[in-house]
Amino acid sequence: MTPPGTNAPPAAPDEVLSTLNRDGSRRWLRPRPSAGRFLTARRLVAVTLIAAFAAIPYVRVGGKPALLLDIARREFTILGTTYLPTDTLLVALGLLSVFVAIFLVTALFGRVWCGWACPQTVYLEFLFRPIERLCEGRHYRTGGRSPLSVGRRLLKYAIYLLLAMFLAHTFLAYFVGVEQLFRWVRSSPFEHPTAFAVMAATTGLMMVDFCWLREQVCTLMCPYGRLQSVLLDRDSLIISYDESRGEPRGPIRRSPPDPAETARGDCVDCHLCVVTCPTGIDIRRGLQMECVGCAQCIDACDRVMESVGRPRGLIRYTSQRALAGARASIVRPRTVIYPVLLVGLLGLLAAVAIGRSNTDLTVLRTRATPYALTTSGDVVNSISLKITNRATHARRFELEIDEALSLESAQLPVTIPAGAAVDVTVQAVIARNRFDGGRAAVTLRLVDDDGQRHERPATVLGPLFAQGEASP
Ligand code: SF4
Ligand code: SF4
Repeated sequence: MTPPGTNAPPAAPDEVLSTLNRDGSRRWLRPRPSAGRFLTARRLVAVTLIAAFAAIPYVRVGGKPALLLDIARREFTILGTTYLPTDTLLVALGLLSVFVAIFLVTALFGRVWCGWACPQTVYLEFLFRPIERLCEGRHYRTGGRSPLSVGRRLLKYAIYLLLAMFLAHTFLAYFVGVEQLFRWVRSSPFEHPTAFAVMAATTGLMMVDFCWLREQVCTLMCPYGRLQSVLLDRDSLIISYDESRGEPRGPIRRSPPDPAETARGDCVDCHLCVVTCPTGIDIRRGLQMECVGCAQCIDACDRVMESVGRPRGLIRYTSQRALAGARASIVRPRTVIYPVLLVGLLGLLAAVAIGRSNTDLTVLRTRATPYALTTSGDVVNSISLKITNRATHARRFELEIDEALSLESAQLPVTIPAGAAVDVTVQAVIARNRFDGGRAAVTLRLVDDDGQRHERPATVLGPLFAQGEASP
């Protein structure tokens, strides 16, 4: 509380955020990596993921990109299959499956995604921070207290910029394809200003993220991080300090030996688990939302335990229930409900994908007068259609309407490239006796050059013939 009549700032609580000083300024973190089995494994995963991100735009499946999210043409190619906006059900089922899978993985393994596979962690901890350590040398080790020369600073940011540009170009390749990207790279930005602006904005955002925001993205901005408290339960895998074994903590005094030491726990209060933490927390304070599950504190503490001759695992992967001395259980309501839901969704997804036709025929709302009468009194309908070829090769389509006396279209037959859609207008003459109440039911049939048929019922409009007039 601010004392009445003074302009003194309110007293800050001990600690609001691990990245905030008591005066409210940013506490810049300079975590020291701790060598160990988890760092080695995470480095391997990170290198694989970074390589995969850079390589996927070049991978082709059946002559098509393995992954291309062409938003401009509203075509999404996944593993060589092109999906169109009409595949809404597939997209919805796919997204739902991803969400349920995330819930399940989090319930079982906690924040394993954050610590091991999230691009923010992977690029920050295994690309940008190592470059920072390399460029800053001993200045990094002093925690930034010794002033960094302008040359080193410039070198660091120049490398960051090159990396951010490379990542932004790779990111863009997922939306436009590598061929288009290379064409753009070789031409003037004025020829493709929108794409250039997207690339520049992505580069700028990456620079802001990796130079300035860093761990704030995980601790303050990421919605997944905020959801942890509801996604985890007492049996979920977490990284935790074993308080019952570590406390009361205290340093080891070799000589003369400290008699009080025998009453102490295993934690020697070396702070190495804090110094290595990329989000700046002290895991000994218990489970915290800021913990991204990176396991660096496990590696740090294991080395300390080995050096003082005590068993590893004072900080370890465990669960809240196991820490309380009970047996953690894999089978619990959420680990049963999520897999059942997931299997159901994936089954549905597979059924929809298998039953998905390689032709789509949509009747569009026509803006012209819907019908006219011929001299003989029959009804001419103008029908607008969208024909989509979802196959992996170009196909030639012809249209038939069983109920039509005649059919005319300047656009038919039409050849449609693989994965493309074409709008077609046809004039169909329907016998007047087919109309009832101003409507007639017809069957549209697309026949392609492979002999495949795709039928779709439709209704066409006509005049409300007087009683008996429609049936001569
Ligand atoms: S507490 Fe440990 S696991 Fe959690 S973020 Fe810090 S170093 Fe990583
Ligand atoms: S690294 Fe281990 S021994 Fe050192 S302070 Fe952390 S928990 Fe205690």
